Amino acid sequence: MKMLRPSRMERCIGCHSCSLACARQVFKQLSWTNAGIRIHSSGGITTGFEARTCVACDPAPCAAACPTEAIIQRQGGGVRLKQDACIRCGACAKACPVDAILISPEDGLAYLCIHCGRCVAYCPHECLELAEKDSPFCAPDSPYEDACTLAEK
Ligand code: SF4
Ligand code: SF4
Repeated sequence: MKMLRPSRMERCIGCHSCSLACARQVFKQLSWTNAGIRIHSSGGITTGFEARTCVACDPAPCAAACPTEAIIQRQGGGVRLKQDACIRCGACAKACPVDAILISPEDGLAYLCIHCGRCVAYCPHECLELAEKDSPFCAPDSPYEDACTLAEK
């Protein structure tokens, strides 16, 4: 099962193209926050950027926490989202171990990555990839090892 991986974030210039592409193409709106991937400064203007996005848990605590099945476990890790079933309770965001779910302050709905990979082509610096979950991204010396370990819990 493929998952979106922010595997080359050292190249990120914080342009938010990925978030804009996700909002536009997946969630059908113009926003850089109502999206499945959001870019944040790593702590200061000189320190670069990090992507906040789903690490494809299996099983997924967000799906277990959702009372309406708006979020459903995807085979192999990660989830599917039926946003029209969301009742804006926020339980999924509280359950997510990596803060990957946005409860939008604008409409109260849950926004999360569904690993469709549409954002990948919009990054001008190839920071993102859609790849198999068990490829080198999750190797023991990977900077994403912690997230991968969480994803397997
Ligand atoms: S906010 Fe929506 S998606 Fe999240 S747990 Fe509640 S109903 Fe489910
Ligand atoms: S990282 Fe968060 S959004 Fe993704 S499957 Fe795990 S709990 Fe759900």
